[in-house]
Amino acid sequence: MTYTPPVADQSFLLEHVVKIAELSGHNAFADATPDVVDAIVRGIGEFAAAEFAPLNRIGDQLGAKWSPEGVTLPDGFKQAYQAYVDAGWGTLAGPVEYGGQGLPSTLATLVLEDLGAANMGFSLCMMLSAGSVEALKVHGSEDLQRLWLPRLITGEWTGTMNLTEPQAGSDVGALKTRAEPVGDGTYRIKGQKIFITYGEHDLAPNIAHLVLARLPDAPGGTKGISLFLVPKYRLDGDGMPGEYNDARCVSIEHKLGIHVSPTCVMSYGDDDDCLGWLIGEENGGMRAMFTMMNNARLNVGMQGVSIAERATQAAVAYALDRVQGVREARPARIIEHSDVRRMLLRMKSLTQAIRALGYYTAGQADRASLGDPAAKARADLLTPLVKAYGTDIGVEVASLGLQVHGGMGFIEETGAAQHYRDARIAPIYEGTNGIQAADLVGRKLGLEAGAVMISLLDQMDADAVGHRSLVELLKICRAAIEALAAMDPDDRLTASYPFLTLTSVVVCGWLMALQLKAAEATDDGDSSFLEMKKAAAHFYLDQVVPEAFGLAASIIAPAKVHEISDEGFAA
Ligand SMILES: Cc1cc2nc3c(=O)[nH]c(=O)nc-3n(C[C@H](O)[C@H](O)[C@H](O)COP(=O)(O)OP(=O)(O)OC[C@H]3O[C@@H](n4cnc5c(N)ncnc54)[C@H](O)[C@@H]3O)c2cc1C
Repeated sequence: MTYTPPVADQSFLLEHVVKIAELSGHNAFADATPDVVDAIVRGIGEFAAAEFAPLNRIGDQLGAKWSPEGVTLPDGFKQAYQAYVDAGWGTLAGPVEYGGQGLPSTLATLVLEDLGAANMGFSLCMMLSAGSVEALKVHGSEDLQRLWLPRLITGEWTGTMNLTEPQAGSDVGALKTRAEPVGDGTYRIKGQKIFITYGEHDLAPNIAHLVLARLPDAPGGTKGISLFLVPKYRLDGDGMPGEYNDARCVSIEHKLGIHVSPTCVMSYGDDDDCLGWLIGEENGGMRAMFTMMNNARLNVGMQGVSIAERATQAAVAYALDRVQGVREARPARIIEHSDVRRMLLRMKSLTQAIRALGYYTAGQADRASLGDPAAKARADLLTPLVKAYGTDIGVEVASLGLQVHGGMGFIEETGAAQHYRDARIAPIYEGTNGIQAADLVGRKLGLEAGAVMISLLDQMDADAVGHRSLVELLKICRAAIEALAAMDPDDRLTASYPFLTLTSVVVCGWLMALQLKAAEATDDGDSSFLEMKKAAAHFYLDQVVPEAFGLAASIIAPAKVHEISDEGFAA
């Protein structure tokens, strides 16, 4: 199954939702001229379709392989990775002083979206490198930046993110990996991390592991965590990979999906010879890691978009081809059946809605990088929505795609099953969606005493005029916020997930209404893209938004889950 990059939708969103012209009007992003942006959107789509998409099935079937010598990916992956490095796709948003192009990060988000649609498991390698660049750029010392950033930006070396340990998953504060100061500015690292994506591979000659660890006598919990750059190979006097740093992948996991992405158990300091370099302040690791995680959360949300796009394309192709039943006295292709059309339109609509939310949030992050505090607050507020709602949509759309294929969807050869299996990890990693919901009601809703959310609601109210369902859902959203404020913490957390979904639908509904307006203003009746854009927007506003009315009940009167005993659950 081939991948056709959704260039028309991507360009439409950059123009009307991100307002990229506004961004390129700023000195820092002056190079993002319309020609450059267009060349990037077209170029990365072509690249992803030609180099990454043909490897998607192979990666799923053969997967990454571990041996005591290391981890290898199937034939073809190393060459495709080198092509990515050679083409400079990793450099778009990197800082100019370290070899990046300094373009808006929204464009880098779009690059990862295309790579993820073409080959989700493979694209994780680039996504984690992008996150480590972000953490080093903001928190790394000048020395670390000079030594590591140029090669991490190009992708010559790759980066990883090491939080998880067997006893420390969602509860990062429970981690035990140790870091002892050596006395020369370095730290001796000892401990085991699990589930480390691309912790070991044969794509690049060095890996920068960003590892959370605890100093001796550090305070307990998240306040006592520091972040270290732990190389696979230490750098020699010329800044090139030298001595082995006792950072070992001891095994990789067998998983439901993303088979080509090595999920590694990493052992640091088995021979007491693993060195780390501090990033940021001692005990300030969570701050630095959050920089990386916010970037990764947005990009993981976009994985939902990627997989939804690919699953939708596959379903439409199948529905145009498969003949079943009769319509108007002749054999009918299944795309002619009302219920199949409904599923396909739902897939299109959800995919376009969440792509819009992802791009809008990335655009806010770009404005934040230009020193706009309101945009920063809005990006912070929306990031858990993109991560959780985006990945939920990825799973729903992949499931619908499988359904459109009928029995063949359950059979591996169509590829629909791979999309479904690949999609399922995204609501789990990078902070489970439950943790995103807790973050929304626990921290983000209260940003600036609630003013960040209120200003967004006010803006949406103004734009919602004429869209009855959206106006209604906005009222429900305000009532839900008031109800949450009056609740005890347990009830608030019970209501957090439905609240996150409701808020996501409100924001996506708003962005769909804006797109509908833009589409109506530009449509000359001759564009099948605009025809579908309007249909997708109407579907979202008329069908998806009203579904969210029903969430009000479970937010305003949450289930009394703590009144049931644990034994009751086990009964
Ligand atoms: C394929 C894969 C790749 C991964 N890649 C990486 C990586 O590169 N680096 C890395 O560090 N980690 C990585 N992880 C780990 C991943 O981030 C964790 O699995 C995830 O954060 C959840 O932690 P856990 O598995 O320990 O689940 P748990 O924390 O045990 O959670 C189990 C359930 O309890 C819920 N829960 C737990 N605590 C709370 C709470 N306070 N409030 C509400 N609900 C709660 C969760 O939402 C979940 O439903 C990866 C995992 C996988 C499977």
